[in-house]
Amino acid sequence: MNYTRVIPPRQPLVCYKLPASDNGGMRITALTGGVGGARFLRGLLHHLSERAEADRAEVTVIGNTGDDITLYGLRVCPDLDTVLYTLGGGVEDDQGWGRADETFHAQEELAALGVRPQWFRLGDRDLATHVARSQWLGQGMPLSAVTTRLATRWGLPEQGVTLLPVTDTPIETHVVVRDQASGTEPGVERAVHFQQWWVQMRAEVPAERFTVAGLDRAVPAPGVLDAIREADVVLLPPSNPVVSIGIILGVPGVRDALRGTRAPVVGVSPIIGGAPVRGHADACLAPLGVEVSAAGVAGLYGDFLDGWLVDTRDAASPLPAGMRSVQVRDRDLLMRDVRTAAGIAEAALDLAAAVGPRTAGASV
Ligand code: GDP
Ligand code: CA
Repeated sequence: MNYTRVIPPRQPLVCYKLPASDNGGMRITALTGGVGGARFLRGLLHHLSERAEADRAEVTVIGNTGDDITLYGLRVCPDLDTVLYTLGGGVEDDQGWGRADETFHAQEELAALGVRPQWFRLGDRDLATHVARSQWLGQGMPLSAVTTRLATRWGLPEQGVTLLPVTDTPIETHVVVRDQASGTEPGVERAVHFQQWWVQMRAEVPAERFTVAGLDRAVPAPGVLDAIREADVVLLPPSNPVVSIGIILGVPGVRDALRGTRAPVVGVSPIIGGAPVRGHADACLAPLGVEVSAAGVAGLYGDFLDGWLVDTRDAASPLPAGMRSVQVRDRDLLMRDVRTAAGIAEAALDLAAAVGPRTAGASV
């Protein structure tokens, strides 16, 4: 895949207006995980930058923090960093995460020192992000303020983008598995950090269920609920519906804001032809008993979804009963490069415009 950078850096966005927009620029709010979401958002920015009208679009991105992990004493936020690097032009494109032109001297040295774990690869450039984040957190800054600083380094404000972690409360997704790890009885449940299950175990050990430490007492970060309530459009990029979008939806207040906003909520399916495009979303849907299909994922958003973009291969599958009022459109949903991602983002905005604002302020 060739994800050459085509977003002009540090330019105001121009865009057309949806029927819902007022006299200001269109306010777009998106919920995102890592690679799938970031590639979609880069396409969205590219599409917006090509619009002829003079209004500035405001794009607020609400990022998943359930993937966060502390390694070597450093706080790592993989999904936020993937968004930063992708929108800022610093991502390793073929891989979709981590830094381009990366070296691994520090981790090699850590390995020589016997420091564990080694299954999570942290490059030297990437490490600088985590050192800076950890220092600022240690000085008492909330994660949202830290993320604003990192976003400035990557030129997001100049692109009209505000990146918000969904919460400043530390949360961590864990996966309950029933394997025969050393020291445990066969069949005894144990919880492993999501990253260990995803990266080291490659999601090959079936998940019994997911549990998110800290989620019940998590408070939405400043601006998160307002960004949903006051948006002209809310987009769900093709992110993992369980461990990316699902975690964001689990932060108290977020789901209610989506149900109550006047903005149309439009999602893009991460499942094409009954399979994830990349990653292990199928292994995440299994413990929920949800079918690995575009319709199955839509069902997870049934209480707030207004528009659903599916791949043409999935056009024939009906949405679950009770979701018939959701407008469904189909097109090619494979993000081959920035331009094809931009086309998908444009189609999502077109669908939002066709749906229009909600009249009563609630979808159900
Ligand atoms: P992660 O946090 O890095 O796993 O990334 P996300 O949660 O943002 O996105 C993961 C999802 O993106 C997976 O379920 C993939 O199926 C989906 N995805 C990746 N590439 C594409 C693509 O080109 N098109 C579509 N429709 N979905 C994609
Ligand atoms: Ca992720």
